[in-house]
Amino acid sequence: TRDLENSDPAVAAAINSELGRQKHEIELIASENIVSKAVLQAQGSVMTNKYAEGYSGRRYYGGCQHVDVAENLAIERVTKLFGCEFANVQPNSGSQANQAAFMALIKPGDTILGMSLDAGGHLTHGAKPNQSGKWFNSIQYGVRKQDGRIDFDQIEELAKEHQPKLIIAGGSAYSREFDFKKFREIADSVGAYLMVDMAHFAGLVAAGLHENPFPHADIVTSTTHKTLRGPRGGLILTNDADIAKKVNSAVFPGLQGGPLMHVIAAKAVAFGEALTDDFKVYAKAVKDNAQALADTLYEGGVELAAGGTDNHLLLVDLRPKGLTGKIVEAALGRAYITCNKNGVPFDPEKPAITSGIRLGTPAGTSRGFGTEEFKEIGKLIIEVLDGLVANGEEGNSAVESAVKEKVIALTDRFPIYPDL
Ligand code: PLP
Repeated sequence: TRDLENSDPAVAAAINSELGRQKHEIELIASENIVSKAVLQAQGSVMTNKYAEGYSGRRYYGGCQHVDVAENLAIERVTKLFGCEFANVQPNSGSQANQAAFMALIKPGDTILGMSLDAGGHLTHGAKPNQSGKWFNSIQYGVRKQDGRIDFDQIEELAKEHQPKLIIAGGSAYSREFDFKKFREIADSVGAYLMVDMAHFAGLVAAGLHENPFPHADIVTSTTHKTLRGPRGGLILTNDADIAKKVNSAVFPGLQGGPLMHVIAAKAVAFGEALTDDFKVYAKAVKDNAQALADTLYEGGVELAAGGTDNHLLLVDLRPKGLTGKIVEAALGRAYITCNKNGVPFDPEKPAITSGIRLGTPAGTSRGFGTEEFKEIGKLIIEVLDGLVANGEEGNSAVESAVKEKVIALTDRFPIYPDL
């Protein structure tokens, strides 16, 4: 019955400090967002206490009548949102959604064709250290050297040569639209399944601002916590009744036990929010803001991988300034601007150093920043970069302190969670 602050001051302090960090730092990590209070409340609810192995109406535990309501709402809303027939909302994460999709459609040793990590793909798309790269015969495609766009000629050649059972479209650091029709044509030419992992841009698809993977994809996976602005988690969609059955068996009992019903309730809330007109306005602002940030950074003298952005993220190539991602991530952190170092395509630096940083607008847009604010943020970033250019790895502490003060002033003008 005691509040967390009284019962466990150490954990409470860590949570409070994290709240303070989120309130006062500009969050530019492209895979993060700031969820609504309603999503937080659902996720922090008593549904965490409930075991509900199985699916709504056919559980292996009693007392599931109320969690069933939440899961049914999540399914009903998400299928409406993406215009599809079937959803499994139980995957605990995007990675588990991908594992379940593999388990449903292919067998260990089968050939898969996905985008390489270096080019902007995700670990679970067949990267060597990941299970997907160890248990499958993983072939990887990339982007063209001349323009940083997906190399469909290469995909076609690799597909012909290796005859994959499954082709994956999607990634974590690709700033351009995915052309699902082209992927479908290549998949059809070799009789492969097409899986779209829309984790990063799902919120844009929901708002009609990125092409919908349906009707092209056989199976669609996603996280729920990036542009979609829900709790951390995953989901799987399809229009194929046979695949749907296999997906349900793969998630439970194939990979998971009791679903996280509190998270599923929060997913239902987030999908409800994503169905509103407000969310469409939000998603449009996410894209407009990414454009404004890209323009400002480009004017400030950096390059952008793939020449710019069509979505919510940009991959900044720092080489024109002679800087690395590692140094820049740290310097921006000192100025209260949070991002992650990220390899650029054909990066000469090691993954722990990199030549780039990945930036995204979903979180800043959620707190109300518009294009004016993102232009200002772009200028602040360039100030920090130029401080590094002039002073080396240590940066310019006067510049970084001045930027930090401006960041605090800006975040104060756009508060989040005022009653927390
Ligand atoms: N798929 C893509 C494209 C991603 O970007 C990510 C997350 O970074 C994932 C899957 C994995 O999601 P999670 O971190 O929830 O396992």
